[in-house]
Order: sequence, then structure tokens, then C-alpha cells
Amino acid sequence: MSLFEIKARIAKACQAAGRNADSVTLIAVSKVQPNARVAAVLDEGHRVFGENRVQEAAAKWPDFRETYDGIDLHLIGPLQTNKARQAMELFQAIHSVDRPKVAQTIARLAQELGGCPDIFLQINTGEEPQKAGVMPAEADAFVTDARALDLPVRGLMCIPPVDEEPSLHFALLAKIAARNGLAGLSMGMSGDFESAIALGATHIRVGSAIFGEREYS
Ligand SMILES: *Cc1c(COP(=O)(O)O)cnc(C)c1O
Repeated sequence: MSLFEIKARIAKACQAAGRNADSVTLIAVSKVQPNARVAAVLDEGHRVFGENRVQEAAAKWPDFRETYDGIDLHLIGPLQTNKARQAMELFQAIHSVDRPKVAQTIARLAQELGGCPDIFLQINTGEEPQKAGVMPAEADAFVTDARALDLPVRGLMCIPPVDEEPSLHFALLAKIAARNGLAGLSMGMSGDFESAIALGATHIRVGSAIFGEREYS
């Protein structure tokens, strides 16, 4: 697949859902990908990227930023509180605020730094013990608390269980967001972004379909 083809598929899915194509932000997930592949996508004019590790992003993106203007970087993987400051200096959005302690740390640092990336709260829609995010039953309280901390909460994020129908999880996330007055929905990956768009995704996180399979060494 290419960036061009993915954009065409997004446009088609938006049209089918009666949505504007510009209502969906494509986050190109560049984790683990060789720099040459990332540069190729930058050269095509794309500027919105996602990384799941702060360390890896810090090693890669400052250099790209010297060459390319307007890079919009999104953290989509788990955040340890001791990396929060670095993450807030590097990323324009954090999709993986998954527990009160992380929210509190970000709020404190936002005061100190005088700014804060856009925040998405991660919901563990599949209630999987090994997965990050707050349980659906605790989601409303988490949104309230994050807002009380003055965090710029833009929306919710989920990663559905691998062996379940993702659309059920997308629908659940959309329902929780709607009742909390949140416009942002970070959901949908290479295998399921069209169904995420049908259910209201505003941010889709697509890696391998753009860059090819990740090769872990
Ligand atoms: C890696 C990753 C993606 C992208 O996955 P693909 O299947 O390659 O599209 C999306 N979201 C998160 C949280 C990820 O870690």
C-alpha cells in the first residue's frame, strides 16, 4: 500500500459515512520503521506521525524536524511518568493517558512548561487485564477528573482486543465520548480503519498499511 492508496480508502470510507474527508486525521505510525521509509512519506508531503515509545521518537524526530517543517507528532503508546516531561516537549498530542497518576503528572508539568499537548484518554474497552486504559465503567469519572485538572482533553482512544470484532469497541468508545461531550475519537488501525471511520473516528492510527510490515530485530 502507499500513502496515496490509504488516502483514497479514507476518502471512500468518509463518503460512505456521509462525512467530510478532512474530518479524519491520518496518523502515520512510524514506530520501528527505517528512516528511509519515513523520509519517503515526509517527501510525499505527509506531516502527521505517531510513535509508541518516547525514547525511540526522541532519537528520530529532532533530526527530521531540522529538514521538514510542520511535523505533528502523536504519542500513541504507554507513557511512564518519568518520561512525561520529555514526551510533552516532543509531542503535539498524547493519546495514551491511561491512569490518574499520568493525568496528574501531565497537569503539573503543563503548569511548569506553560503548555500542554492535546490529550486523549485511553479506555480499555475490552476490559483486558494486560492492557492499558481505564475500564469503561470508570471512564466518565476519568474524563471529569482530567478536565478538573485543566487538561486539554480532546477525546478518547482505544485499542480493541485482537480476537474480537473491533466495531463493537469503536461503537462503545463513541458512546462514551458522546455522553461526555468529547469530539475526538482515536480509533482504527491498518486492519480496521474503515469501520472506525464509519463509527466516527477522528484520528486513525495506520502503520503497516502505509510503511509495510515492521521488522523487529
Ligand atoms: C503500532 C500501533 C498502531 C498501528 O498499527 P498497524 O496495524 O501497523 O496499523 C496503531 N495504534 C497503536 C497504539 C499502535 O501501537
